[in-house]
Amino acid sequence: MIVNPLVGRYSFRYNLCMYCPVCFQDNLKLRSTGVVKISFNGKSRNTSLFPYNLTKDSPADLDKKMRERIVDFMNWYREFQNKAVLEKFEALSSDFQCTNNCKIDYLHTKISVVGLMFKFDQIKKMIEEEAQKHNIETKITKA
Ligand SMILES: [Zn+2]
Repeated sequence: MIVNPLVGRYSFRYNLCMYCPVCFQDNLKLRSTGVVKISFNGKSRNTSLFPYNLTKDSPADLDKKMRERIVDFMNWYREFQNKAVLEKFEALSSDFQCTNNCKIDYLHTKISVVGLMFKFDQIKKMIEEEAQKHNIETKITKA
């Protein structure tokens, strides 16, 4: 399952506590350091990830890292023969924990950092800008 901070009352603040799928309380928190992996339509490269450190990275630093990964993906995707419209974007992390020390199935549980570490509208704009450079069609909608 994907814990999506866009659902319901969550907004852009990475110190936010989210709903834990094990104890059903708002005790899930992103770790201060970790890795974010991005994908489009479920596709990603092995370079489609970046490390973050919330004690050091400014929002501008995070945006820069995100844009670099989007550029990297577009440079790869533009070579595809039959390009599907990019509709589904995900930026997920396994670097979170429940303050109740719940045993979370990290293999199947990820947190979406869209809405947490990044604003959806900002990411959408970045994707559209970088995709346009290669005539790649996008129709990114909120998860
Ligand atoms: Zn919990």
